[in-house]
Amino acid sequence: MSGVVIIGTGLAGYTVAREFRKLDQETRLTLVTADDGAFYSKPMLSNAFAANKDADALINQPAEIMAQQLDARIVTHRRVVAIDTTVRTVVLDDGETLPYDRLVLAVGADPIRLSYAGDGVDAVRSVNNRLDYARFREAIEGVDRVAIIGPGLIGCEFANDLRGSGREVHVIGPDNWPLGRLVPEAAGNALRRGLEEAGIRFHLETVVERIDRDGSGFRLTLANGETLEAGAVLSAVGLRPDVRLAREAGLETDRGVVVDRTLAASVPGVYALGDCAQVAGLVLPFVMPIMHAARALAKTLAGDPAEVRYPAMPVVVKTPAHPVVVSPPVPGAPGEWQAEPVGDGVRALYRDGERLHGFVLTGEEAVKEKQALAKQVPAVL
Ligand SMILES: Cc1cc2nc3c(=O)[nH]c(=O)nc-3n(C[C@H](O)[C@H](O)[C@H](O)COP(=O)(O)OP(=O)(O)OC[C@H]3O[C@@H](n4cnc5c(N)ncnc54)[C@H](O)[C@@H]3O)c2cc1C
Repeated sequence: MSGVVIIGTGLAGYTVAREFRKLDQETRLTLVTADDGAFYSKPMLSNAFAANKDADALINQPAEIMAQQLDARIVTHRRVVAIDTTVRTVVLDDGETLPYDRLVLAVGADPIRLSYAGDGVDAVRSVNNRLDYARFREAIEGVDRVAIIGPGLIGCEFANDLRGSGREVHVIGPDNWPLGRLVPEAAGNALRRGLEEAGIRFHLETVVERIDRDGSGFRLTLANGETLEAGAVLSAVGLRPDVRLAREAGLETDRGVVVDRTLAASVPGVYALGDCAQVAGLVLPFVMPIMHAARALAKTLAGDPAEVRYPAMPVVVKTPAHPVVVSPPVPGAPGEWQAEPVGDGVRALYRDGERLHGFVLTGEEAVKEKQALAKQVPAVL
């Protein structure tokens, strides 16, 4: 048997490896990663500035220790460039070919890049891994004003974090309120107020048109005619599952790599989980779905086929200036949002008659209701 090969050492790759090893200590296990293979918690990337942690301080275990703990070969700084599902091999960028018996795609997602006019465009950064974070820290050294494009979850988290490091922060985006795609108006505006009180400036219902170099910094021109000076520009406009390898290998892809509830792709012996995967129609780029998927997939890989179940999985938005918890209704769920004030925040419930399908809690007072409400929300899958 050529064993299990996992592409990716993010939370998805490492968690499925760890869960698999609990069930099977014999089968050969290989992980391949384009980065250094250090195990770290990606959510920490957006609350590390205020804690004054550099990229190395975020490492929990280096690749060598992970290899020992998992009794696995971990191939670092190598990219898988092709998968041959007929002979069951993966091809690495240095020409090495690894045979697999079962293959797991855990390759994550890529930041979406928007295009702008101007000569400052190449300076726009995104932070989706530890190396990005290291580079961004360097880029904002000595910078006292940062522009963030994208008032979504990750943009708001970085805004709060960078503000916590003492910088002036401006957030720009077309939405009518922060977290516009996730939460109803009253909740978004409560978050906006909280972040504004912390000193963050929003430029909403508009988009960035130009980014020009201006001395040592940049000048952003917005569609509403405003201009804004900033020493660094961070883009946080969303992520797109990385489906390239899968598509080129002839696997079915849609918004993500298409897998069923056993995390199986359209070709036998291949599985996917994490940010790259579309599990029974759902693309959920968060930690909790990865934990549930990893446990189910580990069983399947160990010869005991299992389906993933997702309970309600509220997402905690890391905006300490105004905490938010979101449990979005599944797409197409019947009902509507109703919001009421609680303390300095909001409780918004998505209900169909008496049935609760989702909720948003904002502010110190309201977020305490997270556990109680999560119990009332039906399972996602
Ligand atoms: C700033 C930020 C904050 C977040 N905060 C939260 C939060 O508070 N709560 C929450 O639930 N979620 C949060 N998330 C989302 C969560 O972090 C992700 O869902 C999760 O980390 C994704 O893990 P992954 O293993 O699927 O992907 P990744 O961590 O992206 O791992 C992908 C791996 O694949 C490797 N790879 C890719 N292509 C190749 C290739 N061709 N060959 C070899 N290796 C390859 C990469 O090197 C990497 O090791 C946050 C995300 C970000 C960016």
